[in-house]
Amino acid sequence: MPILNRAAELQDEITTWRRHIHRTPELGFDLYQTAEFVAARLREFGCDEVATGIARTGVVGVIRGRLGDGPAIGLRADMDALPIEETSGAPHASTVPGKMHACGHDGHTAMLLGAAKYLAETRNFAGTVAVIFQPAEEGGGGGREMVRDGIMERFGITRVFGMHNMPGLPVGQFAIRPGAIMAATAEFNVRVRGRGAHAAMPHVGIDPIVAASQIVMAFQTIASRTVDPTDSVVVSVTKFNAGSAYNVIPEQVDLAGTVRSLKAEVAALTEERMRAICEGIGRAAGATVTMDFKPNYPVTVNDPGEAAFAGDVAATVAGEAAIHRAVAPLMGGEDFSYMLQARPGAFIFIGNGDTANLHHPSYDFNDEATPHGVSYWVKLAETALAA
Ligand SMILES: [Zn+2]
Ligand SMILES: [Zn+2]
Repeated sequence: MPILNRAAELQDEITTWRRHIHRTPELGFDLYQTAEFVAARLREFGCDEVATGIARTGVVGVIRGRLGDGPAIGLRADMDALPIEETSGAPHASTVPGKMHACGHDGHTAMLLGAAKYLAETRNFAGTVAVIFQPAEEGGGGGREMVRDGIMERFGITRVFGMHNMPGLPVGQFAIRPGAIMAATAEFNVRVRGRGAHAAMPHVGIDPIVAASQIVMAFQTIASRTVDPTDSVVVSVTKFNAGSAYNVIPEQVDLAGTVRSLKAEVAALTEERMRAICEGIGRAAGATVTMDFKPNYPVTVNDPGEAAFAGDVAATVAGEAAIHRAVAPLMGGEDFSYMLQARPGAFIFIGNGDTANLHHPSYDFNDEATPHGVSYWVKLAETALAA
């Protein structure tokens, strides 16, 4: 398997970085130690420019090739952790209570640092590689803020690429697809206000629990009866809060949940139907229903040509048999979507082997995946910027 020899040599050093980051997780935009660590490494490697403080704690390293002029491409990693108490028992487990790298962003950061070290040593390309380290992927929209802060223009980036580890996919394999690969996400809150009453006299009140239950059930018809069966949508009610006594019909119910879809039109149609359901059931029950719908990350859409290119690059590292070029899209969200709205590119999954799932308290990034990821990044840069 043509993993670059140098990438294999770097594995121990990269693992040391990865475990250091794993021990000291930080959340959201508050990645002061992590960003400082990343910037220090990039300076050590001799990057031509190291820009810090983008979207608060984002870092971009610029590496110019020695084979002449050419365009600039962006390679992106995320650096933030999650508010989860780690139970992995690993010797390098989190030392910060209530925070852990449960999505492998420590591994993404370390692999991109490894690629930056290699590329700064060899510079075997024409043009510029911008290594992008962003904060706040887990809900804060750090990717959006990096784009708003103008990284595409400032570094002249014409194409942009992202990578995420995938538990369950064997180490040494990659998975990608053209078009939508990660879902658009939205969160909603619904408040159903009825009229409280003695539980033995429901006819003198307006029971918000019955109305809210009808709303929950009616929401389930959006996927089955409203949206085209060949399209995907998830409407999950994840909170249903009401009541405090056996014999009291409460005044109100608060519902909340999330919507996932793979097309902007489907997201819009779902919101419209949810509003109609809330209004109609509220009116029928005599309850007042209000809904607050907050769209979050947009769909992550791979440019078909760039997805084929990224798949070809992965095949040079891992062999064609190890590349899944039509992986099913995931209904999770990803803020790399904002970078792909700004520039064409592709998002690829790299096998993390048989580990706990993402966001699980016993998850750990698999350091064995590192040489594969580093080789992919290096090959991608050298191929996209071939002289
Ligand atoms: Zn995550
Ligand atoms: Zn993640």
